[in-house]
Amino acid sequence: MEEIYCFAGNPLDRASERRRDSAWVASLLEDPAARVLPLTDLRPLIRGSDAIELDWQPMTPWRETIEQGATLVFLGLAEGRPFFAIDAGPAAAEPGSNREPLDARSLAPLLPGDEAAILAEARSLIDWHARHGFCAQCGSPTRVEAAGWVRRCPECKASHYPRSDPVAIMLAVRGDCGLLGRGRRRPGARFSCLAGFMEPGETLEAAVRREVHEESGIRIGRVKYLACQPWPFPSSLMMGFLCEALSEEITVDPEELAEARWFHRDEIRAMVARAASGADDPTQVSVPGPVAIAHHICRRWSNGLDTI
Ligand SMILES: [Zn+2]
Repeated sequence: MEEIYCFAGNPLDRASERRRDSAWVASLLEDPAARVLPLTDLRPLIRGSDAIELDWQPMTPWRETIEQGATLVFLGLAEGRPFFAIDAGPAAAEPGSNREPLDARSLAPLLPGDEAAILAEARSLIDWHARHGFCAQCGSPTRVEAAGWVRRCPECKASHYPRSDPVAIMLAVRGDCGLLGRGRRRPGARFSCLAGFMEPGETLEAAVRREVHEESGIRIGRVKYLACQPWPFPSSLMMGFLCEALSEEITVDPEELAEARWFHRDEIRAMVARAASGADDPTQVSVPGPVAIAHHICRRWSNGLDTI
């Protein structure tokens, strides 16, 4: 059984074989048990102060907003109860409300794992609709179909589907050392695994070798898949790898990284422990917290749980 990382492990039954049945979808919207998650500027409403939860609401107060054309997507079923997400626009941020929306990345570590995974689905879909109002083929306005899982062009009849963008993220290993990089936009001394988007026509292994070589000049031999994680910013799939470094001398691509460095296994283990405890000192070298798969790639390798 693989480990489940933040944003993975979505418990909903997406009922994908029934989403094109508009009568069935309409019946879900009439179901008094149906719940909807409002997102305002891609931030979900939340409730609770100690134990934070997503603010799932009944459908009724949202009917007018839905009729006015707000984007509504069907997320799935749990024990027969339908769950939706709605692009609530600025209307949800009522003045005086103590339900201040938080961005998904800050919120995810505070939520139960199931809810973080559903939030990933909701955020990626609502964001996709916001950016795909027009047909990529002919430029006409598109219409939502299949309970929010298709946008169809009434002019050229093209169907457009929400996509995930695969990202290879990897720890290159040589003996007892792992290669970490510090991004140009990352402040302080925050290091992480190297990563990059896969390109069309590329295998995963080729993407790992190309990214590591581009960013650090290191040549890569064997590549081993570890695990993956949905990353809804806006819609990536982070695919984690260990890979075998065949060379040592680093030549950083200054467009991509401020710095890349070999760290000893013991040092990476200490960085992981600091990040996991939340006692991160910005002046010390560090790795991302447990919300990110990079944390777990570093944790597993530095503790001897994964080898290449
Ligand atoms: Zn079209």
